[in-house]
Amino acid sequence: MTASGLSVSDPAEVLRRIFGYDSFRGQQQEIIDQVVGGGDALVLMPTGGGKSLCYQIPALVRDGVGVVISPLIALMQDQVDALRAAGVRAGFLNSTQDFEERRLVEAEFVAGELDLLYLAPERLRVESTLSLLNRGKISLFAIDEAHCVAQWGHDFRPDYLNLSQLHERWPDVPRIALTATATEATHTEIATRLNLGEARHFVASFDRPNIQYRIVPKNEPKRQLLELLRTEHDGDAGIVYCLSRNSVEKTAEFLSANGFRAVPYHAGLDSRTRAENQSRFLREEGLIVVATIAFGMGIDKPDVRFVAHLDLPKSVEGYYQETGRAGRDGLPSTAWLAYGLQDVVQQRKMIDTSEGDDAHRRRLGSHLDAMLALCETVECRRVQLLAYFGQKSDPCGNCDTCLTPPESWDGTVPAQKLLSTVYRLQHERRQKFGAGQLIDILLGRKTAKVIQHDHDSLTVFGIGTELAEAEWRGVVRQLLAQRLLAVEGDYGTLVLTEESAEVLGRRREVRLRREPERVAKAAKVAK
Ligand code: ADP
Ligand code: ZN
Repeated sequence: MTASGLSVSDPAEVLRRIFGYDSFRGQQQEIIDQVVGGGDALVLMPTGGGKSLCYQIPALVRDGVGVVISPLIALMQDQVDALRAAGVRAGFLNSTQDFEERRLVEAEFVAGELDLLYLAPERLRVESTLSLLNRGKISLFAIDEAHCVAQWGHDFRPDYLNLSQLHERWPDVPRIALTATATEATHTEIATRLNLGEARHFVASFDRPNIQYRIVPKNEPKRQLLELLRTEHDGDAGIVYCLSRNSVEKTAEFLSANGFRAVPYHAGLDSRTRAENQSRFLREEGLIVVATIAFGMGIDKPDVRFVAHLDLPKSVEGYYQETGRAGRDGLPSTAWLAYGLQDVVQQRKMIDTSEGDDAHRRRLGSHLDAMLALCETVECRRVQLLAYFGQKSDPCGNCDTCLTPPESWDGTVPAQKLLSTVYRLQHERRQKFGAGQLIDILLGRKTAKVIQHDHDSLTVFGIGTELAEAEWRGVVRQLLAQRLLAVEGDYGTLVLTEESAEVLGRRREVRLRREPERVAKAAKVAK
């Protein structure tokens, strides 16, 4: 029984009357039937796939209150408001509430006057929450963002480990765990850690065919972005992701100064400004949010036409989740990423200096490697993305590599020249340098720094004039992605890897991707 006074035992009827939709999407119906019938479910569905209804409808159909565990505290109020507007009796408990507000929700829960109760995972740390749950009737547990339980994933939250106790305490209450990010490894880990041995697994296709994936070499990122907006997305709503708060601010100012309506969003802004910019984005048309990754989890805006990344995301999971916020309405949308050598250098450095043990650093390193492999692939981006999530597919025809296939070329000789420059510096001079100095040496430039270090007397000085500077940067980037070169230390110095020897010893050919049009275009924009 819901507040709208309907006695609803039929999921299709709830879908129509409460949510206003005619038919279920994808596997929604089977998932809902499974949970309504009292069984457990593990749901892997991409962002925008329609996960919420998979627990909201069973909670309305089954007797009792559906308890939803969600880490998205900032969004609980919005979610609950939206549900209440549709006539669903929803409430939440989290740390943002005062005692009085909490008491009210608790009373509603105990009296059975709620259909859905949203809980932050840390609430379950306190015994009083568990005893509260004992005093009401629970129809189901929904564990949203279930990948947060995976220690090998990119978004681990220790409080999620406690969620296995739900099953121990309430063995008869069905559970549904949902996530939009799941590699094979994460998928398995969720099932194990949440004790979902009996659960049916529902794995939707992760493909988002209306999103066009494009990854371009980064020159002058803000100008490149401006070009993209002017030529393809004038007046469109979109999200621009930057790594640092500072670049968020600068980019938002830059776009505003160039006639676009853009607002910043990052954790350093006060909570009122953040809330206001978020709600403007949801309500207004054609607004651009420039944000750190703090923005977007759970944001449901159907007509986001582009998601642009000005810095390299830390993992493919993160990238896919962020780009997945584009085009939920199914209309053509763009996922655009600019990435350059500096990104690789910066992220390696962040990994090297990150807290945690070696295993943690190795994990971050392999996330980065997968991201680089995606950036440097000569094959369909979508095929590579889906393969990362364990799904096979054919070339899509709607990504940059499908639309303008990059030529690959034999880069063995330039790779040898570059690697032997690194070798000579390392072994003859006991020196290490970054990409800039190496390229100056290869191009035979007598810069002050070259003269200071007497690098013009190296035998490799000036042997690389067949390539332009931008092309050399591409070679460095790709050798890094192929692990034929590595970054070390704080200053982005480049060193050889074990595999470099195979190239230097002429035992290995190096294929590189050439991007004539895009490099030329980016260079033109940069002027
Ligand atoms: P997810 O949590 O998987 O990212 P949501 O549950 O937020 O996705 O759903 C994404 C959007 O799709 C929402 O606007 C939702 O209302 C809509 N939606 C979900 N199921 C259906 C359906 N069966 N028919 C039409 N729209 C739907
Ligand atoms: Zn493709």
